[in-house]
Amino acid sequence: MTESHVTFEVETTVPTTHGTFRVRAYTDVETGADHLAIVASRPDGTAPGPGSLVRVHSECLTGEAFGSLKCECGPQLDAALDTIHEHGGVVVYLRGHEGRGIGLINKLRAYRLQEDGLDTLDANLALGLPADSRQYGAAADMLRDLGVTSVHLLSNNPDKRRQLVQHGIEVLDSVPLVVGVGAFNEGYLDTKRDRMGHELPDRLHDAG
Ligand SMILES: [Zn+2]
Repeated sequence: MTESHVTFEVETTVPTTHGTFRVRAYTDVETGADHLAIVASRPDGTAPGPGSLVRVHSECLTGEAFGSLKCECGPQLDAALDTIHEHGGVVVYLRGHEGRGIGLINKLRAYRLQEDGLDTLDANLALGLPADSRQYGAAADMLRDLGVTSVHLLSNNPDKRRQLVQHGIEVLDSVPLVVGVGAFNEGYLDTKRDRMGHELPDRLHDAG
């Protein structure tokens, strides 16, 4: 067993508009980022364990704080929090994942290039940046720390699933999370489906 990617720092209760959660904070040993595990008990009152519902969510300031319609991160996070509050589970919230790992400023640079017609993938490549540089070893170690060694994963992203498995988390299945599709991000989601292997329906605008 290799050394953990994270150090546990503190756990406390935070009431939210989605319900009350236990929030556990970790420091990423490699990047220094602070990650959170947002934990909801199951309906029978027991803590999450093997086979729990899990969302591994990448930080997105524009989508989550400002309600940007360029992506679906805000509605996905809202839906994930509502889902774990109802059924029990964990949302692992990863900092340092802005713009699929290129950072906030570069994400906005990529948006600028998209104004000239590039799609989300080509914009990253035009900036000399990887299409997706996100790593999920920290998420796997946070789940392991909670005893959540197998998951029903709330995700459309096969790379996320593959990396969690590589890091020793059993993924029992993927539960699609298709929310927040609108006129401003249809093209973005089409690219994620057609060029980046995400599992999304063909006609997103009919998906609600
Ligand atoms: Zn986003």
